[in-house]
Amino acid sequence: MRAQRCRFARRLTHRLAGGLTLLVCTLAALVLTAGAGVAAPIGKHAVATGTGGAVASDTVPATEAGLAVLRRGGTAADAAVAVAATLGVSDPFVAGIGGGGYLVYYDARTHQVYTIDGRETAPAAATANLFIDPATGKPLPFPTAVTSGLSVGVPGNLMTWQQALKRWGRFTLASDLGPGEQLAARGFRVTPTFREEVRENAFRFNQFSSTSALFLPHGNLPAVGSVLRNPDLARSYQLIGNRGIGALYGGAIGRDVVNAVHHLPLAAGATLVPRPGQLSLADLARYRAPVESPTHVRYRGYDVYSKGPSSSGGSTVGESLNILSNFDLARESRVQFLHHFLEATRLAFADRNRYVGDARFVNVPLDQLLSARFGRQRACLINPAHALTSPVAPGNPFAGSGGCVLAQPNAATQANPEVDTNHLVVADRYGDVASYTNTIEELGGSAIAVPGRGFLLNNELTDFDSSPAVPGVPDPNLPAGGKRPRSSMSPTIVLKRGRPVLAVGAAGGATIITTVLQILLDRIDLHMTLPAALAAPRASQRNSSTTQAEPAFLAQPFTAGLEQLGQKFAVSDTSPLNPDITIAPTIGVASGLALFGGGHMQAVAEPTRRGGGSAGVVTPGR
Ligand code: GLU
Repeated sequence: MRAQRCRFARRLTHRLAGGLTLLVCTLAALVLTAGAGVAAPIGKHAVATGTGGAVASDTVPATEAGLAVLRRGGTAADAAVAVAATLGVSDPFVAGIGGGGYLVYYDARTHQVYTIDGRETAPAAATANLFIDPATGKPLPFPTAVTSGLSVGVPGNLMTWQQALKRWGRFTLASDLGPGEQLAARGFRVTPTFREEVRENAFRFNQFSSTSALFLPHGNLPAVGSVLRNPDLARSYQLIGNRGIGALYGGAIGRDVVNAVHHLPLAAGATLVPRPGQLSLADLARYRAPVESPTHVRYRGYDVYSKGPSSSGGSTVGESLNILSNFDLARESRVQFLHHFLEATRLAFADRNRYVGDARFVNVPLDQLLSARFGRQRACLINPAHALTSPVAPGNPFAGSGGCVLAQPNAATQANPEVDTNHLVVADRYGDVASYTNTIEELGGSAIAVPGRGFLLNNELTDFDSSPAVPGVPDPNLPAGGKRPRSSMSPTIVLKRGRPVLAVGAAGGATIITTVLQILLDRIDLHMTLPAALAAPRASQRNSSTTQAEPAFLAQPFTAGLEQLGQKFAVSDTSPLNPDITIAPTIGVASGLALFGGGHMQAVAEPTRRGGGSAGVVTPGR
C-alpha cells in the first residue's frame, strides 16, 4: 500500500513541481484511507517469477483474470482475451471493444510466430479529405478531430479475440469474456491512476451524456477506493458471449455504435459542437482481422518478430536493429551506446514516415526496409563524433548500394507525451506466448461512450496524416475508405535457437517504437535483467530536432557526453489535447516476459510509469 501511495505521490509531484513529496505522500495516504473499506490491491507487483504460466498487464483485476484462465488450463490466447476484456472494464481509457490492436503469438505446436491485424479501419465513405475542414480547406485542429465521430474507425479488438480463440484457444469466447463480465457487474475499486485519467478527460467526458454517466458519478471525479460498476458493459459482454461477435459486426451493438457516431450523445450543457462521423453498419459487417506473417530480423543471434504494416512498429524497430547490427554496442561507452541508439531511430523514423502505411493501399517496401543491406546503407550515416541534424531525409530502399547520401528533407514526428494504449503479455504451460498491444488511441479515445453499451469508441483515424506530411512528397498515411491508419504499436516476441526467450511491447504512441527498441538493446546488448530494462530511464528520438527524454534520463551522468555530441533533449509534459493540462513526463508504458527455459518465466510490468502495472505467475518460485 505504501508503495502505491508513493507512486501516486510521484505522479502528483510531476504536476506540483518538486519538493512536495512528503506532503503529497501524507495526503495520498489520507485519501486512500478515507475511502470506505479500501483494501490494498491484491497482487500489485511489478515483477513475478515462477512456472505454469505468467501474465503482465496494466491492472490487477486483468492480470488476475488471465491467471485464473491459465489455472483452468486455458492457453495464452484464452488468457490474453480474458485480460484484454477485463482491461476494457478496469482500464477503459486505453482498452476495450471500442478499439483495436495487434496480437503477436508464438504457437508451441507449430513453433511459428503469427500475428493478427486488428487495427481499426476507416469507413468506406472516407476520403483523403477526412480531416480537412470544408469551410477553410485546412486540417481540423487535432483536438477537434480527436473528439468527434469522424475519428472513429471500425473497432478490431473483438474480432482479434475471436480469431485468436479460433486458432489457439481451448475455451469459448463467452467463457473468456466471463471474468470481464463479472468485474463489470460487481464493480472494481477506483485507483489513483483511473481517477487521474478521468480528471485529464473531465472536460471531454462532460460533453457526452453517456460518457459522463459512466465515469463521472453525480458529475464528480470518482473517488479513489470507491467501487465503479459498468452493468451496460457486463450486458454487452453477455450478449456477445451468447450471440457471437456479430452482435458488434453488424448486429444490435453495431447499430448502437453507428447511431452514436452519427447522432452524438451530447450532454444537455455541452459546449463543444463535435463533428459526426461516416461509419456505417456495412463497414462493421465487412471488417476483418487477418492472420498474417510477422516481421522478422536477426539481431546478435536472436530472432526478433513483430507486426508489419498497417503498423510501423515491426519495420522501424527491425530497421533500427539492422542499423545497430553494424556496431559492437556492448563494447562502446554508455555515451556512444546511447548516441548510436538515438541516431538509429532518427534515421529509421525518416524511412517510416516516408514509406510505411497500410500495405493494402500503398506499396510498402517492407523487405527492403528490413534488409541487412539497407541497414548498412543507413548505418554509414552515423557519425560517432556528432549527431545528425533532424529532420534527416529518408533513404532509398530501392537503390543498389544507396551510399551515404541524404536526399530530400523529411517531416519530423511530433513529440507528445503519450501513454494511451496498453500492452499485455501472457505465457501458458504449453509453451505458447502472446504479446498483444491494443488501444483506443488517445487516453479516453473519442470520448464518445456508446449509450447503453458501456464502452468508449476509439479515435484511431487521427493516426492518419490529415494532409501530406511533406508537401509534394507522396505520403503513405493519408486517409482513404477501408484503409488502416499507420500505427507504432510493436508487440514483439524474441526467439533464440527457435525457443521464445522474451516478449515485450509498450504503450506510448510513436514512442512505443523507441521504448521497445531500448528495452531490447538493454536486455540483449547490456545484459540487463528485464525488470531493470523496463525501469531504465527512457529517451525517444523520432527524427525531430530535440530528443524527448524523461527527467530521470537527463539526470544520468552520460547526458553531458551526449550533449557534447550535439544531441539535444527536451522534456514533454503537456497533454496533446490541452496545453493547460500537465501530465507526467514519462515515455512509454511497457510490459514483458522473460522465458528462461524449463518452464521458468518472469512477468514484468512497469514499476511506476502510469501508476505501475501488475505481474503474476501461476506458481510462484525462483
Ligand atoms: N494510436 C497509437 C498507435 O497505434 C497508439 C496510441 C498511444 O499509445 O498513444 O501507434
